[in-house]
This record gives sequence, C-alpha cells and structure tokens, in this order.
Amino acid sequence: MDIIVIGGGAGGIFAALAAKQSHPDLSVLVLEKTAVLLSKVKVSGGGRCNVTHACFDPQQLVKNYPRGEKELLGPFYRFQPRDTIEWFESRGVKLKTESDGRMFPITDSSSTIIECLLSEARQLGVEIRQRQRVEKIDKGFTIHLKDNPSLSCRSLILATGSSPEGYAVAESLGHSIQPPVPSLFTFNVPTSPLKELSGVSVDSATVTVGPYTQTGPLLITHFGFSGPAILKLSAWGARFLHEKNYRTPFSINWTPKLSLEELFQQLIQLKERSPQKTLLSLNPFYFPKNLWKELLGSTHEKSLANLSKKELQELSQKLHADIYQMDGKTTHKEEFVTCGGVTLKEVDFKTLQSKLCPSLYFAGEVLNIDGVTGGFNFQNAWTTGYIAGTSI
Ligand SMILES: Cc1cc2nc3c(=O)[nH]c(=O)nc-3n(C[C@H](O)[C@H](O)[C@H](O)COP(=O)(O)OP(=O)(O)OC[C@H]3O[C@@H](n4cnc5c(N)ncnc54)[C@H](O)[C@@H]3O)c2cc1C
Repeated sequence: MDIIVIGGGAGGIFAALAAKQSHPDLSVLVLEKTAVLLSKVKVSGGGRCNVTHACFDPQQLVKNYPRGEKELLGPFYRFQPRDTIEWFESRGVKLKTESDGRMFPITDSSSTIIECLLSEARQLGVEIRQRQRVEKIDKGFTIHLKDNPSLSCRSLILATGSSPEGYAVAESLGHSIQPPVPSLFTFNVPTSPLKELSGVSVDSATVTVGPYTQTGPLLITHFGFSGPAILKLSAWGARFLHEKNYRTPFSINWTPKLSLEELFQQLIQLKERSPQKTLLSLNPFYFPKNLWKELLGSTHEKSLANLSKKELQELSQKLHADIYQMDGKTTHKEEFVTCGGVTLKEVDFKTLQSKLCPSLYFAGEVLNIDGVTGGFNFQNAWTTGYIAGTSI
C-alpha cells in the first residue's frame, strides 16, 4: 500500500479521507483491530456526538487543551471548527449549536456522523479492514498483524487513540511516550456534608486543587462534585491528581466575584441594614435555598443582630475557601480522555510527521493532546487527521 492508517477511530478515518481526497491516485488502507469502526463516535455525547465546539478563534480555541495548547495553534489556523462544520455540511450533515457552544448533528444522532464518514470513504475508495490487530511495525514499515499476513506501506499514520499497543508501536519507531493517565472525571468526596443535595448546582464557583484553579458551573452529586468547573479542573490537574492518587484536599470559592474583604463587608452591611432578619431568609448571594442552609451551618437560625463579627468573618472565610477532601474519582457520563501519549516535541505540527521516523504521521489522541469536555477532543482528531492526511 502507499498509505496505511492504523486505527479506525475519528482521527484515523478522517486522516484516511484527507489523504485519499488530496491524492486519489494513492492506495489508502485503514486497519482497525475491532469489528467496529468509529466506536467512540457512536457512544459520544450520550449517543448524539458532540462533533466540535462553536469557537472560531484559534487563539481562544487552544485554551481548551491542557496538553497541546501551544502545538495546536498553527494546525487550528489550517483546520478549525468552521472547517469541520463546512466539511460535514458540504456532505449533507448540518450541525447545530447548543447554548454552551457544543455542536451536534441536527439529527441528534451520532449515526449520522458515522454514516457520513463511512459513505465518504466508500466514495473515495478508501479501503477499510476490520479485525486487524497491529502487533508490531518494523522500521521501513512492515506491519505485523495478529492472525493475518504482514503488510507493508510507504507512509504510515498512527491513530490508535489511547491504546497501549499504539504507544508500543510509537516507541519501537523511536518515540517517547508521556505516561497515560485519565482526564475528565468528577471528584468523589465521601465525607461531603452536601451529598444529600445531589442535583443542586450553582452557576459559578471557583475550585482550586494544588496549583490548579477553574471557575464555572458546579454540580453537587451523590458522590461529591461534578459540573464544568470540576471537569475542567480534572483535565488541567490530571497529572497532579494522579500523583496524589486522587486523594487530596481542594477548596471551593462559592462567591468567586467577591474578594474575601468585599464578602465580609457585604455581610456587615446586611447586619446593619436588617439586624432582625436571618441570613437564611435574606439569601444575599442567591444560592439554592437548601445549599445556602448547609453553608450557613448553625448560623442559619440566628438573626444577624445575634451574629458576632467573628462569626461573620468565619462565614466569609468558609464561603471563600470551603475545604473538602477528594477521595477517588468517577467517570463523567462514561466520557474520558487520556492525558499522555506521543511526546509533542518529537512531532512536526506543520505536517504531523514524526521528527524521528520519516514517513510516520500521527493523528488524534495517540498524541499527548487532550481537551476539556465540549467537542474539543473530536476537533483535535479532525484537525490532526486532516493535516496528517493532506501532508502525506
Ligand atoms: C464515552 C465517550 C464519550 C466521548 N464523547 C466525546 C464527545 O462528545 N466529544 C468529544 O470531542 N470527545 C468525546 N470523547 C473523546 C473522543 O471520543 C476521543 O478523543 C476521540 O475518539 C479520539 O479519536 P482517535 O481516533 O484518536 O482515537 P479512538 O477513537 O480511540 O480510535 C482509535 C482506534 O484505534 C484502534 N486501535 C487501537 N490499537 C490498535 C491496533 N493495535 N491495531 C489496530 N487498531 C487499533 C482502536 O480500536 C480504535 O478504534 C468521548 C470519549 C468517550 C470514551
């Protein structure tokens, strides 16, 4: 073959389509170890496939990648969410944008995306073989398959996602691998006094763990905490949290728009203005009532006149830095990505070609790139797949 792509996921299939489209005369073959193509696309976004994110400024877009921020900037000037939208729309698949920027096919079905990609492959003449597990690749690209005869090719695209076999192949071809650890998970807090409030959320809280901090909506769950603030924090702090074995204190600032002093002064002013009222009834920060009651603790029954300056100071401190103990993690709606993979400085991001092994290219999550939740991980697969395929 001229080009062999290893991995029939989003990155591999998109790379194969781009390669065949730009060089119709070359033979392009995709090898997938399972019986199912695009299996993660199928289950993604709760079966709806969050294809990309409505963020069209590459400088802004890269900020959603804890790993890959610097390296993806150039590639996003060449293939970004606008190109993804156009690519699918020009093949009859319209995408829609939800209020938080996530983009889905208007059919709300991931099958629409799969059918589009596979029908394009058929039209272009990309060959796809399933149940072909690549076990080993020699330099010069002889590909050894489990239970099948070996193959050879002139150029190779490795798009094996977070599969250990893919990492082993990359290593055998001279690359180093950043150790894989999970990203995108929720925090378990078995001792949380708020667990009973499962389902309650706030629009904006700042959560801090070690040197990492993120602000956004926060959701209380049966296990502990979830929501965008936590998921983003799990991505940025993926390696730190792994080193801590997912057991570490973290703090929640429930009123991120106010400094500690501003918060305290607001409480003092409330006391001066409405001494006979309770903080519970005033609810000055518009929290869900049952959450506010929990945060107030024993002070919720007292009128402001009966709250000392010290008590108001303590309450301000608690609202500003409420400490919880993380003890374990839980997968968020089964979605996860891997922090880790092929070391980025070993890859030329103008072409996605290896700097160490000529004619070897990479696409998707096999690279040490991952984004926060919201369609950014598929965008990485489309962008790197497109550039790898067209560069060959
Ligand atoms: C449940 C879930 C939901 C998700 N939802 C979203 C979402 O809505 N939006 C978003 O942006 N991201 C989402 N993600 C992340 C996204 O799915 C991945 O980032 C993306 O699929 C990566 O694409 P890839 O092609 O690099 O890897 P993969 O999709 O993992 O594909 C790699 C392929 O390579 C094959 N392979 C591996 N080793 C070999 C071998 N030795 N020989 C042959 N083939 C091999 C695998 O079987 C697999 O098919 C979700 C992830 C999960 C798990």
